[in-house]
Formats: sequence, C-alpha cells, structure tokens
Amino acid sequence: MDGHINQSTTHMGGEVNIAPVPEPDRVCMACGIRGHTVRDCVWTSDRGDMPSCPFCETCDHRPEACHSKDLFDADDIWDLFVLKRAGKSQVRTMDSDLIWPNLVRARLERNPDEPPLALNPHSRPFSLDQSRSNPLRFKTHEYGNDPRGLEADPRTADRAELLRDSGLVDDYVMTIVRVEMWEGGRLMPGNITHSYDVVLEL
Ligand SMILES: [Zn+2]
Ligand SMILES: [Zn+2]
Repeated sequence: MDGHINQSTTHMGGEVNIAPVPEPDRVCMACGIRGHTVRDCVWTSDRGDMPSCPFCETCDHRPEACHSKDLFDADDIWDLFVLKRAGKSQVRTMDSDLIWPNLVRARLERNPDEPPLALNPHSRPFSLDQSRSNPLRFKTHEYGNDPRGLEADPRTADRAELLRDSGLVDDYVMTIVRVEMWEGGRLMPGNITHSYDVVLEL
C-alpha cells in the first residue's frame, strides 16, 4: 500500500481507509444497520450487487451520477471499488471506468509489477448465491474486525483468470441494463421475452 491510505476516513474526498473502521454513529444506507457505511457493507441486493454511491455513501444515485465524484482521485476509486469490496459484492455501476475488473486491468497496465490482491470483489452470481444461502449474514458481520473473514469467489480469485473472463463485466452490465429497462417500463416489444427471463432468473 502506498502512503496515500491511512486510517482516517474523510467522507467527501481525500483518503479512504481499507480496513472497515467502526463508525458507531453512522447508519448504513444500504442495510440500515448502525456502525458502518455502504463503502464497507456486506449486504447484497437481489441483483447480486451493492446499489450505492460509495463517494457520498448513499443509495440515492449511481456513482457515475455523483456530484462529488470529481473530489476523488484514481487511488480513492481503487480503494472504494476494489479494495473495500474485496470479498463482497461489487458496487452497482454502468460506467466502465468504475467497474472493478476494468479498474484491475487499468491499474496493472500502469504498473505491471503490482502484486495481485489477496482477495478480490465477487462476481454477481457468487454474491447472489451467497446472499440466497445465508440472507441474514449481513446482520451478524463484525465490522472493524478481520476483513479477511470474508469469502473468496473462485471465479475472481486469480487475477490473470479474472482479466481473461470477459463475461465478468459484460454479463453484469447486460443484466443490470435489462432489469432496469424492465423496471423502468421502457421495454421495446422485441425485448420483453428476453428481459422477462432475466427478471425470473433473479
Ligand atoms: Zn450496511
Ligand atoms: Zn454520490
């Protein structure tokens, strides 16, 4: 880790800590539990992701639409979308520059010698399986303790493999697009059957 990261979290820009630090006075906007925020939250939506903006720690909008986004630099984005989501579901975004496997790829292009992470964020299907098999797990997760109590997704465990896995990004984006088209009532007639299948699958 570089010197950029420290243990104090500034909530609007600046440094972001990696390990979850207990925040007893704050209530998570995603799961409603006191003591952490959406950045660290282990709860997963019924779409297998974390539908929140980690920049301003709300669930009001996607990160790409955030007015505070420009306060965060590339290292902050790495922290929020990759490090803090290690062993957890990915942040919901359709901005390809914020989708975590793309961030891993970009970082490696900048620094080919960077060692792989011990734990990566989950694929959507793995997050979904995890939350279905133990839907109340988020209620007993101990924030502030060892974050490596989190499980690894075999599909994303190996960096070289995840970078070859184009479905990791493409399947995720297509699923979210289809579900949001369905929910938003903006379906074109030809899409209905296909999108409905996706909704059923969720
Ligand atoms: Zn939470
Ligand atoms: Zn925001």
